[in-house]
Amino acid sequence: MDCIFCKIANKEIPVELLYEDDLVVAFKDAKPIVPTHILIIPKEHLESIADMDDKYEMLAGRLIMVAKKMAEKLGIAKGGYKLLFRVRRDGGQEVAHIHLHLLGGGKMSENIHII
Ligand code: AMP
Ligand code: ZN
Repeated sequence: MDCIFCKIANKEIPVELLYEDDLVVAFKDAKPIVPTHILIIPKEHLESIADMDDKYEMLAGRLIMVAKKMAEKLGIAKGGYKLLFRVRRDGGQEVAHIHLHLLGGGKMSENIHII
């Protein structure tokens, strides 16, 4: 399957992984919109949150808990951050493999507030 995030998760393309466990990996967004912009993705190919059913409850929780721990590790937890899932076309999702954006490292502009 020609999915860029599957290739990152499978290590078919070389990207520095900041975190990896049995279910998810995390890496830097290639075009950061804030000083700290990390993506946390499932290893399994799922197109969007809308494609998850109840059996993915643990995976959904894992994505969020890894984002929380990454924020602590990267020193942005105290100041605060934003977690963002875009979902399908109207949500502005461009890559059709679930990814949780961890956004922080500075006060966000008005623009970021309305994303
Ligand atoms: P979204 O609009 O929520 O689908 O976000 C997709 C994100 O993936 C964007 O912020 C892109 O900058 C990021 N992105 C796309 N390709 C890559 C890549 N090869 N490595 C890292 N980030 C990527
Ligand atoms: Zn994929």
